[in-house]
Amino acid sequence: MTMILPHIERLPGYAQGEQPPDGTQAIRLNLNESSYPPSPEVVKALQSIPEETLRRYPDAKCDKLRTALAKHYGVREEQTFCSNGSSEIISLVMKVFIGPHGKLAIPDPSFPLYHSVAASYQAECIGIPTRDDFSIDVEQLIHSGAQAVVLVNPNAPTGLLLPIEDVERLVREFAGLVILDEAYIDFAKTDESAVALIARYSNLLVIRTFSKAYALCGARIGYCFGNEKLIAALEKGKDVYNVDAISRELALAALKDHNYMKTTTDAIKRTRDRFSRQLASQGFIVVPSHTNFLLCKPPARSGCPTAEELYDTLMKQNIYVRYYKNPRLRDYLRITIGTDAEMDAVLMALGQILEQNGKKCDE
Ligand SMILES: *Cc1c(COP(=O)(O)O)cnc(C)c1O
Repeated sequence: MTMILPHIERLPGYAQGEQPPDGTQAIRLNLNESSYPPSPEVVKALQSIPEETLRRYPDAKCDKLRTALAKHYGVREEQTFCSNGSSEIISLVMKVFIGPHGKLAIPDPSFPLYHSVAASYQAECIGIPTRDDFSIDVEQLIHSGAQAVVLVNPNAPTGLLLPIEDVERLVREFAGLVILDEAYIDFAKTDESAVALIARYSNLLVIRTFSKAYALCGARIGYCFGNEKLIAALEKGKDVYNVDAISRELALAALKDHNYMKTTTDAIKRTRDRFSRQLASQGFIVVPSHTNFLLCKPPARSGCPTAEELYDTLMKQNIYVRYYKNPRLRDYLRITIGTDAEMDAVLMALGQILEQNGKKCDE
């Protein structure tokens, strides 16, 4: 007798990207983590957690954080939801809004987690190809025939931003639910968040996370904004104590010190723009990034190493970047933007690898 449901048995499992072996000193630029520490206020909050916080159940709706987020973004508490990382919201979307045999459309390429989570809920996730330059065809999403559309904006792993006018058009003209994942919006070059649109559209859910710009991947805190009815539905579908008592205090401290986040994201943006120019001058094609990573294509002259070869060679030098075998992406590398020193090390390593192949490369 099989104990495992067939659709779960068939799942490949989420491919997280190679991890350096425990204890190795490596430059980790493959998971879009922050190379900067979280705010010192977060560390202080962590150190002053009283024992009682561990002993008691936390309040189920995460009230203090919810109130703080609502205030910060100018929305109401009933339009705000807190979660165990934004990944939990992605699961809840499938559980609460899509359901088995429901259909979800998402540009391709985009964040692969939506596909694997949909499959685990027996939902169908339809990839809508982006144009050759990876730009998103809003028209195609509007006419996808799915009950919901996911838009990661800025998109991952391309780094491209869809202007707010196009986002609004999608929300206005698409008949179903629009799930807008703004995990990287704080790294965008201009303020293009759609949070303000939730006041006018009842079919929009805007997902955010403390993982990327606030450097709190390990604390697992996400949140989203939407119409009261959507939020109430998420509340019904979630685990009762989905946000642990410690993480919510850390998120609160991080949000209070949002100027610190602004300073670190500004530094990352400067490093990104410099690194992009330097890669381009080495002959790379760089997709314009609005995130803390960039997608780039190594020089295509014959004899030059392929993206996959560069990925392997960098890994042997303890520099971890991301490589996807996906046909649209297999000529590219995705590189997280770390500190200036880390990016200099990457440039130096790439320069040396290309130079060693130089003779072959120039033939
Ligand atoms: C990192 C990421 C998430 C997941 O973030 P968590 O809050 O850590 O679960 C969600 N969406 C996108 C597009 C991401 O890149």
